[in-house]
Formats: sequence, C-alpha cells, structure tokens
Amino acid sequence: MSGPLVIAEGMREANMFDVVRVGDKQLIGEIIEMHGDRASIQVYEETAGIGRGDRVVSTGAPLSVELGPGLMTNMYDGIQRPLETMYQKYGPNITKGISEPSLDRERLWAFVATAAVGAALEAGDEIGYVQETKVVRQRIMVPPSLRGTLVSVSSGDYHVNDTVAVLRDEKGKEHEISLMQKWPVRIARPSREKLPPAEPMITGQRVIDAFFPIAKGGTACVPGPFGSGKTVVQHQLAKWSDVDIVVYIGCGERGNEMTDVLREFPELTDPRTGESIMQRTVLIANTSDMPVAAREASIYTGITIAEYFRDMGYAVAVIADSTSRWAEALREMSGRLEEMPGDEGYPAYLTSRLAQFYERAGKVVCLGSDRRIGALSAIGAVSPQGGDISEPVTQSTLRIVKVFWGLEASLAYRRHFPAINWLNSYSLYKDRLEEWYQGNVAEGWMAQVNEAMGLLQKETELEEIVKLVGVDALAASDRLVLEAARSIREDFLQQNAFEDGDSYTALDKQYALLGMILSFYHKALLALDKGADVQRISDLSVRERIGRAKSSENFRIEYPDIEREVDEQLAALTERSY
Ligand code: ADP
Ligand code: MG
Repeated sequence: MSGPLVIAEGMREANMFDVVRVGDKQLIGEIIEMHGDRASIQVYEETAGIGRGDRVVSTGAPLSVELGPGLMTNMYDGIQRPLETMYQKYGPNITKGISEPSLDRERLWAFVATAAVGAALEAGDEIGYVQETKVVRQRIMVPPSLRGTLVSVSSGDYHVNDTVAVLRDEKGKEHEISLMQKWPVRIARPSREKLPPAEPMITGQRVIDAFFPIAKGGTACVPGPFGSGKTVVQHQLAKWSDVDIVVYIGCGERGNEMTDVLREFPELTDPRTGESIMQRTVLIANTSDMPVAAREASIYTGITIAEYFRDMGYAVAVIADSTSRWAEALREMSGRLEEMPGDEGYPAYLTSRLAQFYERAGKVVCLGSDRRIGALSAIGAVSPQGGDISEPVTQSTLRIVKVFWGLEASLAYRRHFPAINWLNSYSLYKDRLEEWYQGNVAEGWMAQVNEAMGLLQKETELEEIVKLVGVDALAASDRLVLEAARSIREDFLQQNAFEDGDSYTALDKQYALLGMILSFYHKALLALDKGADVQRISDLSVRERIGRAKSSENFRIEYPDIEREVDEQLAALTERSY
C-alpha cells in the first residue's frame, strides 16, 4: 500500500470499479485497476493502520448513490455519506469504515400515487410523487431499463426502501418499486435525446447574463488565481440562478469555505419561492481534512444526483469549486499507480475524465412517455497555480466547456468585482441565446450589449494611445468613449455580491441600466457637437446618480427622473457655451 492506494491479491472475481472493504476497520475503497488477480484500490478513508495481510472484500457492486426523498437540504461527503447524521452519531471525527445510509431509513414520506393499476408504463414514467421540501416535488419514476404493467400502487406514508408499487414486465416478472433508486456514479443516467440549449440560465449577475451568458444545460468554467473571486462567483450562481435544484460540490481551497456555505445558505431566500435556498440545494463537501481520494469521487456523486433531478424534468445546476483540487487527487492516484505522467504530472486521461463530467450536462428530453424536458448545467471553478491559465487543468477544461469566465488578479486587486476579464472571456451560447433575450427581455438587447462591448474594446485601444501621448492629445469624442467605457465598467459590470440591492439584478433592470449608460453617451456626443466641454460632461452631477442606480431598489421609478436630469444638465452645458 501507498497512501490511499492499496493493492490486493486474489481478487480475480472482483470487477473494475467494485466497491471493496479493506481490513478490520472495513475502510471503503474502489477498484480502479485490475491486473490478473491483483486489484489496485483507491481507499476513501485514512489508511493508517492498514497493512500486509489485511483482508479485502469486494461488495460486488460499483460505487453508487442513493436517489430519492431525503436528498434535499442534505450535506454529504464525496461518497454520499450524510455528514450531519454521522456527526450526530459519531461526533466530529468520522470513525473509519462507517457506512451510514445516504437516505434516512427511519423517516416516513407521504407518497401520492398518480399512475393507475393496469397502466402500461415505461422507464421514466411517473408512478407518483413525494413533496420532499416546500419547493421540491420528487417524481417517483419507473427506473431506467424497466417497463411493464402496473400491478399495484397505493398512496400512503412510506420509508424510502418500502415497496410502493409493483410492475410486471413483458416476461411476467414482477419488480418491486420503492421511493429510492441506486445508480453507479461513473455511468451517466440515460435520457431520450439531447437538445441544443436555447434558454439562458439567468444568474442576476450582470457581466454574466449580458456579456457571457450560460444556457440552461450549458457548461462553464471560472478559472482564476487565489483570491480573484471564484468562490464568490460560484456562491452567487448557487444563490441566484433560476434553476429548480442546485448541487454544490465544495472541494475548498480554504478549510472554512464549506462552513461559510453552511452558515450563509440557510439564511438566504430564493426570490422565486420566498423559501430558504437550502430547500432546493444538495451540498457535497470535501473538507481539507478528508483524504484526497474522496474528492475524486465527489464530482461523480454530485453530477449523478443532479441527473436524477434532471430526469424529473427540472432545471438543475451543478457547481464545483474547485475542479483543480479534484484533478490533484487524480494526479496523486496516478502517481501512486506509477502511470506514465503527462503534462505537469497529470495523467494523460485528465481531459477525458473532465469531459466525462461536463458531457453529462445538457438539455434533454427525459425518459418517460410525456417527453418532459430537463436541463443540467455544469459550472466548475479552476484554480491554476499563480493564475497561469496555460496549465493542463485549465487548458483541458477550456477544450470542453462552452463558456469561459476568466478571473483576473489585476481586476480583483483594483476591487473590480466580479473580476471577469471582459476582453478575453467568452460564451459560445451568445448567438444561440440572442433570440431568447430579444423575445423575452427587449428587442434591442443584443445591439446594446454589442455596443457596450465595442466601447470597452475601443477603450483598450485608446489607453495605449494615452500611455504614449497623454489624455489631452485625444479628440473630445475619444475622451467621451473613455468616459462611457468607465461608466460601463463601474456602473454596470462591477457588482457587489455583498450589497443587498446590487447582489442580483433582474434582466429588465440590466437592460434599462445599460440603456441608461449608453443613452448618456449618445446624448453627450450630441452635446459635444453643440459645443459642450468634455470635461464638464464628465463632471456632471447626474453621473453619480447613474452610478448609484445599479444598487437602487427603486430604479424603475427613478429611471425617467434620471433621464430628465441628464437632458437638463446637458442642455445647460450647451446653452452656457453659446
Ligand atoms: P477565490 O475563490 O478565487 O480564492 P474568493 O471567491 O474567495 O476568491 O474571493 C476573494 C475575496 O474577493 C472575497 O472574500 C471578497 O472580499 C472579494 N470578492 C470577490 N467577488 C466579489 C464580489 N462580487 N463582490 C464583492 N467582493 C468580492
Ligand atoms: Mg475559492
């Protein structure tokens, strides 16, 4: 054995990816390589005390998660052990080898049958439902790969593993169905077909929704150096995204990050339901005191839980912070297996493993005859050493995901948050989402965004010139471009996650805000033509009102008033100069 890696002989009958129990303490591990009768096992618990001659027993089943009522509001470790229950039973130091069921076996759930006896059902069809929390109704579905005639079903109070219905398949075999399914984490749950994502996942984060939107069912990554705001972005998405379910996977860089989540999330209300966001959240925590191997499993555990809710027809977001910690676990195991190292010691299969995660995202037609639609978005933070995004984890991720929100240390240093670099970030969904924004927010949405982007690009060019010859050498109209760009950056892109009025901005307000900034620019250009002085335009007091608008709760009422003031103040400037 070496660290979390254990090699066992006489394992001919075991299978790749079987879960095994190691030693007297019954440590939990997973077979990750087989050579003849020798199995290489990744152990998910501290292996101190294990040694030669210890027994290894295969459970004969792959690493699986339990899916059913009891998931919501729960917090699990990387192999879906319920942290709260274990804490209550065993105290703060998780005793080795504990296998506590992931879903509470004692709790009773009110099951409401919706399918009738005699109905011909296929995989994914609803048999009934359980109202799991105030906001989440779990469909109880025919498991994948099963179909038949419903022989019995009845509403009532059940434990997760009680039989609630019986289905007879074509061969006459009867299958008992409970509220719970098991699914191997490394295998994607099936759907009928994938659809192209065409709707945005609205986050209320202006730089994201307007400039670099992610689709429901899309994939995104947030690379950035330590302290650049990755975790804050991820938290904002978990809090505000307009999805039904959030699965938050924390592989924190700082030990207390998950504690922050636990303290903060229950106090936040979901603007759509008025309930605590925990009511729609599952947390997976890998704290720094847990062995690295458990991190490796955690992203699969998380995405499998997410797929289960997608299968019910929900919009789900999986948020992983940070996938670099996950990749390091992969690298460590690969090293111990003495595999041929690739770039920076990461295994050659790094990209394919990352792809296996992100490819499970998507908008799909779910199993089931009602052809309901589900969507799973996957967003991963990446923390490259020293912020150098040419490193393998960032580069591999960029090859797979469709949205890149690049966080910049220099912006964070200047307290421009979110520190998303507007020049090199991108969203490959932008064109596809254009129609949605134009139809659902405003016809002029795209034109406005493009104009703002254009001004920011122009700003960068002009800054080069300013560096050489100074700002006074610029034409007045170019100085106005610099003013407009500054206003876009400060009054629109910068968004304080910790200020109530600013933390979330609805799309219509985003549109109006950007519109107001651009309208000021257009009117200022006209005033310039009429002889107004550019410095005076920049100094107008109404500029300050424009700056405060983003965090104002009464913006919709104030808006016409600000516009009026802009007109008045600009008119005064031109009158004076004649
Ligand atoms: P990372 O995860 O990249 O190491 P964090 O997300 O922990 O960085 O952010 C570091 C700090 O930056 C935060 O504690 C906060 O003070 C500040 N910050 C980041 N994003 C924002 C934001 N949108 N609004 C205000 N402050 C922010
Ligand atoms: Mg962080």
